[in-house]
Amino acid sequence: MCAAGGSMFELVFLGTSAAAPSIRRGLSSAMVLHKEYRFLIDCGEGTQRQLLQSGLGFKRLDRILLTHGHLDHILGLGGLMSTFARWESVDRVEIYGGLWPLQRVRALMQVVFGEGEPPIDIQYVELSPGLLMEDETFELSVFPVSHRGPGCYGFAFREKEKRPFLVERAEALGVPAGPERARLVRGEAVTLADGRTVTPDEVLGEAVGGAKLVHVGDAGRTDNLVEVAQGADALVTEATYLDEEADMARKFGHLTAAQAARLAAEAGVRQLILTHISRRYSDKQVLDEARQIFPDTDVARDFDRYRIIKQH
Ligand SMILES: [Zn+2]
Ligand SMILES: [Zn+2]
Repeated sequence: MCAAGGSMFELVFLGTSAAAPSIRRGLSSAMVLHKEYRFLIDCGEGTQRQLLQSGLGFKRLDRILLTHGHLDHILGLGGLMSTFARWESVDRVEIYGGLWPLQRVRALMQVVFGEGEPPIDIQYVELSPGLLMEDETFELSVFPVSHRGPGCYGFAFREKEKRPFLVERAEALGVPAGPERARLVRGEAVTLADGRTVTPDEVLGEAVGGAKLVHVGDAGRTDNLVEVAQGADALVTEATYLDEEADMARKFGHLTAAQAARLAAEAGVRQLILTHISRRYSDKQVLDEARQIFPDTDVARDFDRYRIIKQH
């Protein structure tokens, strides 16, 4: 395994049950961590306790991404925001979602806080397909997903590739420590005091990094997901049904384990992680169906943690 300079995505499942909780599984929620960033994806009922139990806590939890507006994915925001407003030092939260999901969350916040300004600064950011945010090491983009109801989105986290600076090579070429090195890292050639020119290729190693994590919430079809999932190091998707109940899956806009596995195979991902598991099946039934088609499949359990790293 080749880590990308210590930078990667960490994924923690907080709730992995479909529609209603089970004894072992809470309702939908997961967190993606990258450097100082923390993105909570969905916030089903009971998520705040799952956050505590996972050890993640509430610190720096200021970005919440919503895959869609169904209650099993948003109802936990009522309790979480109420706790933030009363007890925690989180005083500003950005909630990202489609128009309809955000309308439902606003209505929920009105129930929690009443009319007027809530005691916590909640910024509602309406999603649209494309780049949502980026910095020098990663980008987060949004893509449409087909499920029941409007405003359903998935999230693609992509680490930018970077070329490590080879200090010994720079020393050997006589590049002094200082601004010259910074310029080489930025991809610019530099001219040294003695007139020699050093190019970036002489002091930069092979590109590393570039891990890609794709998170799809509830989804009713996969043909529009192949391209966005292409080559992902990890694909997270729902698997609410088995193929024997494909009719039900179609009717309610959900995927079967086999459909999810076929998507993973077609998109050439490295690893498939299934979530949104129905109480009617055992983990083994879901796994068996998916692994027949795509062997590198896991069924996520609450509190499972994954390090998403580019494999070279
Ligand atoms: Zn759901
Ligand atoms: Zn749903």
